[in-house]
Amino acid sequence: MSSAQLYCALDTTNLLQAQTWARNLAGHVDGVKLGLEFFVANGPAGVRALQAEGLSIFLDLKLHDIPNTVAGGMRAAAALGVSIITVHAMGGPAMLQAAKAASIEGAGKHPPPRVIGITVMTSLSEEDLTATGQHGPVGSQALRLAELASDCRLDGVVCSAREAAALRAKLDSSMLLITPGIRPRGGDLQDQKRVVTPGDAVRLGANILVIGRPITESPDPGAAARAIRAEMNAAQGHDA
Ligand code: C5P
Repeated sequence: MSSAQLYCALDTTNLLQAQTWARNLAGHVDGVKLGLEFFVANGPAGVRALQAEGLSIFLDLKLHDIPNTVAGGMRAAAALGVSIITVHAMGGPAMLQAAKAASIEGAGKHPPPRVIGITVMTSLSEEDLTATGQHGPVGSQALRLAELASDCRLDGVVCSAREAAALRAKLDSSMLLITPGIRPRGGDLQDQKRVVTPGDAVRLGANILVIGRPITESPDPGAAARAIRAEMNAAQGHDA
């Protein structure tokens, strides 16, 4: 598997703010993640504005609906030429297969995006899973959903870095593991509770690290991203 990548989460409704971050980060990250907050406020035009900064886009829409509706949303999203799009693995096999097929149809002349399944949100506890009728423990449910995503030919899953080693051991090596909830050693945890350092996430088998506020709230986002990249490279035995 090639070197782990770093995507910065640009969580804002403000397009100018997102463009400023993107300019500061160009050359220091592999891409940026745009989520619901940004997309609801700025739509496809906002995505195109950030693509114009030359950055690869991870569109974190977390699609979850009936297969036909997800396929329609996926076709429209893939037509934007983004590199990664998320769907909830809980949507089930027919929805996941429809999403994957639609990603290829929708991409047209662009390379198809990688379709990534959300397993268990890190904000959910064991009790929350039980309340929704799902069986824990969280790690087992994450593995079940990751195996479903793999069976449906998705390109990877989002999981906690704490589950990454167990998933890496069971899944095909081509499945990408994308991990949020990363905090540099000694950094502010903000609302993340179960955090892992960038170096440890790479050592546990993560392929793409998603990191937001430790970069965007830094007085020098480019320098913060470079420091995180150096830690990732050191964990992979590369020169920083
Ligand atoms: O600022 P921070 O590094 O906490 O941002 C992490 C990003 O990853 C946010 O965009 C958040 O929505 C997302 N995320 C997460 N935990 C998950 C799934 C996504 O923090 N389980």
